[in-house]
Amino acid sequence: MTLLRHFINGTWQESATGRVREIRSPHDQHVVTTATEGDAADALQAIVAARASFDGGAFRSWSWQDRQALLRRVADLIERDLNIYAAAESGDTAKRLIEAEYDIADVISVFRFNATISEPGHSVDVGRSEISSRIAYEPVGVCALIGPWNYPLLQISWKVAPALLAGCSFIVKPSELSPSTAVLLMHTLVEAGVPAGVANLILGAGSEVGAPLTTDPRIDLVSFTGGLQTGKHIMASAAATVKKVALELGGKNPNIIFADADLDAAIDNAVTAGFLHSGQVCSAGTRLLVEASIHDQVVSELTRRAGLITLGGPDDATAETGPLISEGHLNKVLGYMSRAISEGAQVLIGGKRASGIGLEQGWYFEPTVLDRCTTTMSCVQDESFGPIITVESFTSESEAIRLGNDTIYGLSGAVWSSDAAKCDRVAAALRHGTIWINDYGPYRPEAEWGGFKASGVGRELGGSGLHEYLEAKHLWRNTSPGRSGWFRDGGHSSE
Ligand code: NAD
Repeated sequence: MTLLRHFINGTWQESATGRVREIRSPHDQHVVTTATEGDAADALQAIVAARASFDGGAFRSWSWQDRQALLRRVADLIERDLNIYAAAESGDTAKRLIEAEYDIADVISVFRFNATISEPGHSVDVGRSEISSRIAYEPVGVCALIGPWNYPLLQISWKVAPALLAGCSFIVKPSELSPSTAVLLMHTLVEAGVPAGVANLILGAGSEVGAPLTTDPRIDLVSFTGGLQTGKHIMASAAATVKKVALELGGKNPNIIFADADLDAAIDNAVTAGFLHSGQVCSAGTRLLVEASIHDQVVSELTRRAGLITLGGPDDATAETGPLISEGHLNKVLGYMSRAISEGAQVLIGGKRASGIGLEQGWYFEPTVLDRCTTTMSCVQDESFGPIITVESFTSESEAIRLGNDTIYGLSGAVWSSDAAKCDRVAAALRHGTIWINDYGPYRPEAEWGGFKASGVGRELGGSGLHEYLEAKHLWRNTSPGRSGWFRDGGHSSE
């Protein structure tokens, strides 16, 4: 088994401390791989390398077209190695191989999409023939790119692809629970021709390597995807040196079903929205809002469907979803359940660690439906990041909107109704970054992704995702210079 190592200035290296971390399968605890465990000293080395590469200017002086071509090569190489990538992603997370294959296909699309973005820049007409006024875009500088474990490479690719296109140098910090595909990506970037020092990788716990990445003055931007509490901490850490921050945080996403909706489609999508990847999805539809007149019908079908879901490991062809990522996360979900019950939520199905043949060693949790929930309950307000759907009822459009916005989060939501005008009204009133109408879950690399309110700062994907990695510079050129004439000139007589 090869030890996963840091990648700093074009060289693979182990931590100075010699510490290693075992990456164990959430399915059965077998050791999938081992990784060097970094600390602040390793992170500092990576910062020095990235800074030197950026300030040296070699990569950012590549033409925009050359960097687009680089992204196309990266996409082609990942496509060539898709099976290797998918196996590694599935190994670390125990998500089903087929889901990992979808994720890696999405990663390829992210690089391909970014390769199509033309170099931004435009002229400003100031109404004077001797003046040329132009807005140019330059790379923001050295970026710390910090990712989560639920979609390990996909979330990193949302950062790496635009950072490369912009001409930045960067340090990738994957989740310590799922580092394998970030290591593969470094190999791919080298093969595609990324110069040494541009792309660096640091492995280890955020509590150890995170401080330098978020406080060092040589870092210009921190782009982070992860939990709300970590995001708040990073934003505060970055403030001391006024770094730019881009934050993709959690969600508590309302999925609103009106009585006039296509209920078959709405319920089927509600099951997927809540239980895909066992709810470990930032945009999971874990908060179901149902019009009171169809409450019983929807809840009974939702509960029936939840009971049919087959849990299993990455290689189980019958499995429909897998385990939670870790024992720590399972305990967090169990704590969330206890609070929900003590606050009066009614458990219709699930609510506990899953047992069953083949699941004994894994961090499995039963797909769960909680009824009689209200917005004052923590189960409605807090992200569980597990397979738990809470159900609330409403009796009017305005109440549905009020409930859907009654959250500190604002990542995504959905509205189901056959009344197009009502869908438009509700979609416009919901304060979330993505709203699906009569659908749930699709995202596109061409379309901006991100959160209102506490779900984040900035956007990933789309044109805005690139602009997080750019600085605008206004260039003013006067081809016929003259005196400003503002202050009295004592050496000359004035008329
Ligand atoms: P997390 O916050 O625990 O960790 C995320 C990353 O931050 C990891 O790499 C971790 O090592 C690092 N980290 C931890 N402490 C740090 C520190 N002090 N300084 C710097 N880095 C630090 O999140 P997680 O459990 O890995 O991921 C789950 C969360 O991610 C959920 O809340 C989910 O909603 C969110 N998420 C959001 C999106 C989105 O697009 N909005 C996408 C995926 C996941």
